[in-house]
Parts: sequence; C-alpha cells; structure tokens
Amino acid sequence: MQRKHDYRLIKSHRPYTVESLGKLLDVHPATIRAWIKKAGLSCAMVSDSRPIILNGAKAKTWMKARQEAKKRPCAPDEMYCVKCKEPRQIAKGSFRIKPSNSRKVIALGECVICGLTLRNFNTRSNLANLKAQYASKASND
Ligand SMILES: [Zn+2]
Repeated sequence: MQRKHDYRLIKSHRPYTVESLGKLLDVHPATIRAWIKKAGLSCAMVSDSRPIILNGAKAKTWMKARQEAKKRPCAPDEMYCVKCKEPRQIAKGSFRIKPSNSRKVIALGECVICGLTLRNFNTRSNLANLKAQYASKASND
C-alpha cells in the first residue's frame, strides 16, 4: 500500500470530486471518502448524496499536514529503524562503513532495541562526519 501521495499535483484553485481527486493521487475513491469521514479532510456537499466537491487548496494543505505529521526525524547520532518505525541509536561497536560506489558509502549499525541492521546512505566526503556522529558515541558508552 502506498503511504505517500504527491499532494503537489493538487491545484489550489481547482475544485475536485472524490473521483477526480482519487484519479489524480492514484487512490480509490473509497479512500478519499474514508479520509473525509474519518481523517478530517474537509469537503462541501453539493447535494445530500453526490457529488461531493473538495476545495483544492484545503485538500492540499490537509494532505501536506498529514504527511508532515508522519515524519520521524533522526537526531545526529540516530538512524531510522524500519522494524521499530522509530529513530534509534546504534548498538555499541556495531558501526561500520560499506563502500557503495566511487562517491557513495553506506553507514551501518545495529538497532539497540531489535538488533536490525540500520543504514544511513551518505557520501564519501561526509565520512569524517559519519565517524564522529556514530563511532565516537558508540565507543564512549
Ligand atoms: Zn529497531
């Protein structure tokens, strides 16, 4: 299931029906109706039944706020754990660097809670920063 939708496709000065917004964001009309009913997406009822008209600007700001609320920013010494679905510190001594290509590296570490290998995709020019961020922290504890 897709969790992110490109809200930038929504035109602020254009009204949408449930079907047209669904088509634009590539979601089923039932999903749009569920957002209206349960998640607080505002709409204007034209008649008692159908069509439901959505204000483009309101839909866009609602969608943006919803996606911003889902973000889990990491602190400098944390990596995002996809199993815990939270930013986590890495286990002591688990930090290592894996070269990806001539310019990119992958910083690896293990989640302190579940032990999953966490990844931070970065550049070689940032190598000294990465070591300072993760390796020193893990060895000081
Ligand atoms: Zn974890």
